[in-house]
Amino acid sequence: MRHLKLNPPQLTLQDAERATALFGVQGTVRELYSERDQNFLVTAGGESQFVLKIATVEDQTGEVELQLAALKHVREVNPQLPIPVIRHSESGEEYLEFTTAAGVTHLAFMVSFLPGVLIEDSPINGDLLYDHGRMIARLGQALSGLFHPSAGRELLWDIRQLPKLKQFCDRAPSREHRLILSRTIDSFSSETLPNLKVCRAQIIHGDANGHNVLVDVTQPHRVAGIIDFGDLYHGPLLNDLAVAITDVLMSRSRDRSEVQAIIRGYNETVPLQPVEIGLLFDCLTARLALTALISLYRRTELPTRLDYNHIYEAPSVAWLDELHSLGREEVTGWVREACGVRDDKAIKVKGPARDLLSRRQRLMNPRMQLFYDAPLHIVRGEGVWLFDATGRRYLDVYNNVPHVGHCHPKVVEAITRQVSTLNTNTRYLGEQVVALAERLGEHLPGDLKVCAFVNSGSEANDLAWRMAKAFSGHTGGLLMESAYHGITDAIDAFSPAERRIPREDHHIETLTAPDRYRGPYKTDCPDTARRYASDADRAIARLAARGVKPAAFLVDSTFLTNGVLEAPRGYLDAVFKKVHAAGGLCIADEVQAGFGRMGNFMWGHQTYGVFPDIVTIGKPAGNGHPIGVVITRMEIMDALLDQTSFFSTFGGNNVSCAAGLAVLDIIKEEGLIENSGRVGAYLKNALRNLMHRHEIIGDVRGHGLVIGVELVTDQISQQPARNETRWVVNALCRRGILIGSEGPHGCVLKIRPPIVFNVKHADMVIENLDEVLNECREQMSS
Ligand code: PMP
Repeated sequence: MRHLKLNPPQLTLQDAERATALFGVQGTVRELYSERDQNFLVTAGGESQFVLKIATVEDQTGEVELQLAALKHVREVNPQLPIPVIRHSESGEEYLEFTTAAGVTHLAFMVSFLPGVLIEDSPINGDLLYDHGRMIARLGQALSGLFHPSAGRELLWDIRQLPKLKQFCDRAPSREHRLILSRTIDSFSSETLPNLKVCRAQIIHGDANGHNVLVDVTQPHRVAGIIDFGDLYHGPLLNDLAVAITDVLMSRSRDRSEVQAIIRGYNETVPLQPVEIGLLFDCLTARLALTALISLYRRTELPTRLDYNHIYEAPSVAWLDELHSLGREEVTGWVREACGVRDDKAIKVKGPARDLLSRRQRLMNPRMQLFYDAPLHIVRGEGVWLFDATGRRYLDVYNNVPHVGHCHPKVVEAITRQVSTLNTNTRYLGEQVVALAERLGEHLPGDLKVCAFVNSGSEANDLAWRMAKAFSGHTGGLLMESAYHGITDAIDAFSPAERRIPREDHHIETLTAPDRYRGPYKTDCPDTARRYASDADRAIARLAARGVKPAAFLVDSTFLTNGVLEAPRGYLDAVFKKVHAAGGLCIADEVQAGFGRMGNFMWGHQTYGVFPDIVTIGKPAGNGHPIGVVITRMEIMDALLDQTSFFSTFGGNNVSCAAGLAVLDIIKEEGLIENSGRVGAYLKNALRNLMHRHEIIGDVRGHGLVIGVELVTDQISQQPARNETRWVVNALCRRGILIGSEGPHGCVLKIRPPIVFNVKHADMVIENLDEVLNECREQMSS
C-alpha cells in the first residue's frame, strides 16, 4: 500500500547531469514521466540515447537488483526480444548510490533508450495487436526461469491486491460507479482469488500498458520494444495478458476482434491453460477495477499531482460496465474462440440446426441463453426422454416443467378435449378453474384455500408480493442471497441470481443462505439452524434502520439457486417466526419445490414443517402449459381487493386448468410423490458413493428429485470447480444425458428430472457421471 502515497525522487537537471556522467555519458538530460521513480532521457553525441533511472528512497536495493537481474536474464534467454540494455557505470557497476546537491541519496542506473512510438499513441490494427500479444507471451516465456528474492514483494498494481482497495469505492462519483466497483471486488475476492492460486505463476513484467510498449515507426504492425521493468513481481502469468488487453485497448473501440487478436497472439506463443481461459474475464474486470480505484484514490487524495492515471478512471469504469453487461459467458466465449478451443469432443452444430441457430440469433439476440456448447434442436418429448432433429434420444435429468413426463397422454388428452370445446376467462363461471382451486386447497392446511390465477411463477410472486404489502401495510422485502423468483420489475428485486448489473433497493434485505458446506456455519458447527436464522434479525434490523418494516419473506424451499441446499432442521421455522413477529408474511415459492418434487410431501415447505401465509405455484402445475397460482387466506386476498380489482386475461383459462387438474390426477394415480422420495433417495445415495472415487465431488445434497452435486477442485480447499462443471455438463450431453449447473459459483450439477424418473434412469446417470468424471480428471490434468 505504500505505493499509494507517492514520494518520487526530486533530482534537478544538474543532479541528473552529474549522475549521467558517472555512467560515462556526456549529454543533455530531459525529465520523462514516471509514476514512482524519476526517469531522465539522456541524449549524448552520435544520436545515442539512454534512460537514467533513479529509484525512490523507499525503494529497496533489492527491487533495483530485481529489475537488473530480469533485464540480464531475458537478454540471455532470448536476445531477440527488444528490451533495454543495461549500461554499466565508469567503475563497472550496474547501479550506484548517488547523492543529490540537496544531500539526498538515491540509487541510479542507466539503460539504453529504445526507439519507437508508444502503442498508446499509435493507430492500432489487428496485426499489431496480434504481435503485441505474442511479444508479451515471449517475454513471459523468457522470464519463466528467473528467480529473485525481491520478486515476492507486494505491489499495488498486482490484481491480487484489489480487495485492499475496497475502502476507496465510497469515493466513486456515482452510485452506479460505486456498485460496479464493489461488486467486481466482491466476486474477485470470493471466486477469482482462490482460483488464481492454481494458475501458473512466475516473475512477470506486470505493467505492459500502453506507455510501456513501443511500435516500430517503419513497420506499424510490429511491436518494437517493451520497456519499464519497474513493476516486476511474482504473480499469475495470466495477469500480463490481462494488462496487455485492458491497458492497450482502454481508450479504443475495444471490440471483440481486437481483444481476440491479442489473445490469439499470446495463445499461439504460450497456450493458455483451461483454468486460465476460464479466469481471463475475471482478471480483465479486476485490472479495470484496480486502475479505476487507484486513479480515484489519487484524484481525491492528491488532486494537484500531475498523474496520467487520472485519465483512466472513467474509461476503466466504462469498460468494466461493458464487460459486465456482456457477461462472463460471452467474454469467455471470445477467449475460447480466440484460443481455438471448443469442448474437445463437442458435437458441432451441423446442417439445419446451424441455420436455425443463426436465424434465432438474428431474430432473438445471440445473447439469449441456450443450453450446452453445441445447442440441441429438440423436436419431440416422451416421458423422461427428449429427441433431437436427427432422432437421437436424450435422458432428461434436468427439466422440471414436464413434471409428470413430457407429453403425458392424460395431459395431452385433457388439453385437447378442452381446447376443442371452450377456452375463455374467469369473468364467466367455469367448472375447471373452481375445481382446480378446490383440489389445490385440499393439499394445503387451514384456511390456505383462496386462489388467484395467473400465467407464470413470476406473475404469481409479483401478485403475492402485492398482497403481502396490502395486508401488512409494510413495504420491506426479505429474501435469500442469490435467490431467483422471477422477471417482473418488483420481483427482479428478489432475484439477485440472474442479475448482471447490481441494483440497490432500499426496501430489500437478503439473508445469508443456510449453506452448511460453504457458508459461515458448517455441518460440524453446533446449532446451525439458530445461527443462520439469527441473520433474519440482522436483516430486519437493517430494514428498520432505514425506516422500513418487512411485508414479506419470499423463499424457495429447494434453495435451488443457492446451489440446492438442505437447510438445517428448525431453520425455516425460526425465520418464519421472526418475520411474523416483525409483522411480515411468509411466502412459500413452490415454483420449484411443489407438486412432490422434494418427495414425501406435496409442497416443499412441508418438508420443513412450516406454515406460510401465501403459497405461489407455477412451472410444473400445468406440465408445460402456462399456469401460475397464488393460494392464500381470504383476508389476505381481501386486503389486495380493497386496493385494486384483479383480473388476468389468460390466468385461470379453461385449457390451463384442465392441464392442472390432469397433473393432480396423475400425481395421485401414479404415486409420484412417493416415487420422487424413493428414487431421489436412491440416486442421492449412489451419488454419495461416487464421492469415494471422485475427489472432485465436494458435496451431494437435496430432497427427493432435486439434487445438487457440488464440484470442487479438491475436498480440502473446496474451491469451486466451475470450468470442470461446465465440462462435465457438456460431456454428459454428448453421451445423451441432460443435466444443468446451478449455484452462485456455477459449480453445482443440477439434477431435477420429471418425477416419473425411475431407478433404471438413476443408474444411467450414475454410470455416465462416473465415467465422465474420470475423463474430466484426465482432461484437466493434461
Ligand atoms: N420462482 C422460482 C423459485 C423459480 O425457479 C422460477 C423460475 N425459474 C420462478 C419463480 C419464475 O417462474 P417463471 O419463469 O414461470 O416466471
